[in-house]
Amino acid sequence: MNKYIANVLADVKAKNADQPEFLQAVEEVLTTLAPVIEANPAYQANAILERIVEPERTIIFRVPWIDDKGIVRVNRGYRVQFNSAIGPYKGGLRFDPSVNLSVLKFLGFEQVFKNSLTTLPMGGGKGGSDFNPKVSPHTPGKRCSDREVMRFCQSFMTELFRHIGADTDVPAGDMNVGGREIGYLFGQYRKIANEFTGVLTGKGLSFGGSLVRPEATGYGDVYFASNMLAMRGDTLEGKRCVVSGSGNVATYAAEKLMQLGAKVLTLSDRSGAIYAKDGITPKMLKDVMRLKTVTRGELADFAKKTKAVKFFKGANSWQLADKVDCAFPCARQNELNGKDAAYLLKHGCVLVGEGANMPSTPDAIAAFAKAKIMFSPGKASNAGGVATSGLEMSQNSERLSWTAEEVDTKLKGIMKAIHDNAWNAAEKYGHKGDYVMGANIAGFTKVADAMLAQGI
Ligand code: NAP
Repeated sequence: MNKYIANVLADVKAKNADQPEFLQAVEEVLTTLAPVIEANPAYQANAILERIVEPERTIIFRVPWIDDKGIVRVNRGYRVQFNSAIGPYKGGLRFDPSVNLSVLKFLGFEQVFKNSLTTLPMGGGKGGSDFNPKVSPHTPGKRCSDREVMRFCQSFMTELFRHIGADTDVPAGDMNVGGREIGYLFGQYRKIANEFTGVLTGKGLSFGGSLVRPEATGYGDVYFASNMLAMRGDTLEGKRCVVSGSGNVATYAAEKLMQLGAKVLTLSDRSGAIYAKDGITPKMLKDVMRLKTVTRGELADFAKKTKAVKFFKGANSWQLADKVDCAFPCARQNELNGKDAAYLLKHGCVLVGEGANMPSTPDAIAAFAKAKIMFSPGKASNAGGVATSGLEMSQNSERLSWTAEEVDTKLKGIMKAIHDNAWNAAEKYGHKGDYVMGANIAGFTKVADAMLAQGI
């Protein structure tokens, strides 16, 4: 390994030994950068790597709120403002008991390169809380009520508001933070800051949101896959696809796959996975979307009422179908491991399009690379969401709203540009077809050059 990279990695490991997800993300990026580091000695001379792995600012705060029984609850809130060299910090908020500094630093670090790849002027950040809206703190088997989620969001924003702004840091949604939560967060920001600005994206359409933002990450993931297939003169038509998750990214990826003539065989959630051997139908998908965003239930309940699907308790999506062409991991980090990769490869998989952030473990990525299948890393193929957030910011600044067709056309163009940038960077450095290396190098170079130009 390049000596400079090895030294920086060793230092990051020593300083962040208790942050496995962050270390995994840093190692994944740094180990692909040797060609560009060697070709540009100024990066080492100006300690670009040492600086790029350290967040510019990390804010940790107390979030006290009152549940429906009048009991005071306390959660921990975070905002990791990772890098603002090319634009205001931008990245989602995640509410989940698994949230900690390691997870948010991994996500913030990835976000820096992803946002750079979108071609839009956005820095990288990430935030959230260990708050769990899916488990009531007082009634077993129930979720937090809407009012509890609202009070939590209001308390969270009461501290966060002083650290963000339309030109400073523009958070969005992520896991368990959707339209409802963004609405409550925006409402509180507006009240206490006394301004109506584009300080959050993913807003409702009546208060500055963009058409196609909810669909953008899933659709973008599928557009990226179409671009990869097009390089081989192929399309998604008739492809047998396994998708994991049943949240925002997964359901819209599934919707776009169906629109483009592919067959979606699986979806999953925390309760397990569903498998439809003849493909999930548009009607079933609509029911799953309703289940996840309105009635807020589990796939286990859905499967009881839907004869055409089989339910596998506690399973993920990877080892259910006996013939697979494409896999789209769209749920969470490290959800597809080496064994899953071996199964997919043995059963015909030729393309993996990551919709989630870092869903494939390092041994799974190594297996895909060895098999030379098309593999797109999340930081490239799930960038459609944040790109459309960038388009929402532009519309807010102009006080204009674009039509769904306009936004979708721009999204398609951005996903093609990301694909081509990653492809070209990989080719330039002698690794043709390696989207992992291409995305890392293309994303890194823009940020590194901006850091160089702005001094230390
Ligand atoms: P979401 O709507 O909350 O959906 C997450 C899905 O993953 C749900 O189906 C959830 O199951 C499942 N899941 C979560 N933890 C799990 C676990 N431990 N075991 C099994 N299933 C689990 O979130 P999302 O917005 O779709 O985000 C999914 C991924 O995409 C994340 O990695 C996120 O960072 C990434 N991403 C999202 C966006 C965006 O615009 N939303 C953009 C870029 C990247 P339940 O339904 O049972 O909770």
